[in-house]
Amino acid sequence: MTARVGIPSSLFYYVHFPMWQTFFSELGIEVVTSGQTTKGLLDEGVKEALADACVPIKLFFGHVIALKDKVDYLFIPRVVCLNRKTIYCPKFLGLPDMIRHGLSGMPPIIDVEMDNRQGWTSLWKSYLKIGRIFGRGKMKIFMAYLKARSVARRFHSLLLAGMHPPEAITALAKGANVPLPGEKKKGDLVFAVLGYPYEVHDQFISVGLVKKLKKMGVSVITMENLPPKKIARANMLEKKMFWTFSDLALNAAYYLFREGKVDGIIHLTAFGCGPDSMVDKLMELASRDYPDIPYMSVTIDEHTGDAGISTRLEAFLDMVKRKKEALQSTCPR
Ligand code: SF4
Repeated sequence: MTARVGIPSSLFYYVHFPMWQTFFSELGIEVVTSGQTTKGLLDEGVKEALADACVPIKLFFGHVIALKDKVDYLFIPRVVCLNRKTIYCPKFLGLPDMIRHGLSGMPPIIDVEMDNRQGWTSLWKSYLKIGRIFGRGKMKIFMAYLKARSVARRFHSLLLAGMHPPEAITALAKGANVPLPGEKKKGDLVFAVLGYPYEVHDQFISVGLVKKLKKMGVSVITMENLPPKKIARANMLEKKMFWTFSDLALNAAYYLFREGKVDGIIHLTAFGCGPDSMVDKLMELASRDYPDIPYMSVTIDEHTGDAGISTRLEAFLDMVKRKKEALQSTCPR
C-alpha cells in the first residue's frame, strides 16, 4: 500500500511545498495536505498550542491536528539554515519537538534536520535520509531530489514573474512546465505587503488582506516577487538580522523605500512574534526617511476581524491617494 505523508498547509508550505511534494511523489509516496485555514482549524490550534506562542505556530498546531489521523507520517523537518547566512526563527527549530510533545496520538514525525552550513552536500544527505525511511534506493532518491530541485527553481521563477505563492502552487499542480505569466496590467497604485509568507498568503489569518487590496484596484507585490540578491544588498544594518524570514522582510522594505517603486508599504505582523518586535520598529524608523511612501503596520492575531482590517485599508488607501494628488499638483510639469 502506498505510504501517505502529511504536509501541513502552513509555515514552510508557502515556500517549499512544490519541492517537497515533487520529492515524495517521485518516490511513489502520496502527499496529503491539510487544506486552507478555517476558523475551526485555528480554534483547535489555539486550544492545544502554548498560550504565549505566536498565531502562526498556533495555526500550525491546528493544521497538524487536521492531518494527523489521515496519514502514516507527518513531514515536519527541522529546517535550520538554507542560505548559509541566516537561520530560521527558534520556533521553527523547535517545531518537531513542540508538536511531538504538545499533541497526542501522532503518527511518526519525519523531522530530518536541514542545515546547509554543514557542507555543500548536507541538504542532499537530509533528503537521502528521508528517502531511506521509505526503503528507497540511493539512485531513485537522487533522481527524485534533482526533479524536486528543478520544480523549486520553476516555482521561484513564477514568483519573480509576479505570482504569489498560492497562485504559483496551483499553477505548478497542473504541470511543471507552466509558462511564466506575462507582465501584469498594473493598477494606478502599487502597494507592497511585507511579512512572513505564512501570514501574508494565508487567506484566513491575514483576513484576505491582499485580496481586499486587489478588489480596491491596488496592485500588490510581496517579498517573494522581489529579486533576492537586490534585497540582500539593500540591508542598512551593520549586521544581518539573524532570522531568515525577518531578514528578508526588513531588507525588502529597505529596498522598496530606496527604489521608490511602490505607492505604499504595509507590514503585516503577528501578535506574539518576537523577531517582529524588532522588524516592525526598524521598518517604521526607515519609513521616516522616506515620507513620500506611506507606511502602515497591521498586527493580526486569532481574533482579528474583517471589518477592522477593511476600515484600516480603506483609510490608508484614501490617505495614499490624497498624498499622491497633492504631490502631483505641487510638482512642476
Ligand atoms: S518569525 Fe515570528 S511569527 Fe514566525 S514563527 Fe517565529 S515568532 Fe512566530
